[in-house]
Amino acid sequence: MSLKQYKNKRDFEKTSEPDGNEQKTIEKPLFVVQKHDASHLHYDLRLKMGGVLKSWAIPKGPSLNPDIKRLAIPTEDHPIDYVDFEGIIPEGNYGAGIVIIWDKGTYENKSLKKGNLIDMEQAYEKGHISLIFNGEKLKGGFNLIKMKPDDKWLLIKKNDSEAKRKGVILEEKPDSVLSGRSLKDIRKENED
Ligand code: MN
Repeated sequence: MSLKQYKNKRDFEKTSEPDGNEQKTIEKPLFVVQKHDASHLHYDLRLKMGGVLKSWAIPKGPSLNPDIKRLAIPTEDHPIDYVDFEGIIPEGNYGAGIVIIWDKGTYENKSLKKGNLIDMEQAYEKGHISLIFNGEKLKGGFNLIKMKPDDKWLLIKKNDSEAKRKGVILEEKPDSVLSGRSLKDIRKENED
């Protein structure tokens, strides 16, 4: 796990995203879902794991409905500080657009192998991560499952008391859990 790819893609003179040089030590297993209005609107799921944020782009965003499987495409590891990043990535930079913290919280690893708990790195290698999100919007059990032979994953809500078959969380709660701002708010602030 390394930040090489992350750093290579960005010019930190031009973007206010964290440069990853001074990594915060955050002990809790954190997750963040960032809503990212770049060339296409998508959501980025990041899980703190092994000193970095393991990252997946979820084109359609997470769902609380266990019947819905959401495609999750792995992207480069991000620095831990990125859990707090919200704002604008200027034009001409990698991922240019607006980022809000759509959800953030802790997670509990529940990944098993032959009935025994395995660590997150092992679960990642195995291609089956089972966890519980304790976010403001995402709660309860989820599976992240790698589809073979390609490197795409699926994010699927487990059928538990936090599952919801009605409503769409992305539409019901579209804004930042950090600042309450919408993508529009941030765009406007930047224009003023
Ligand atoms: Mn993104």
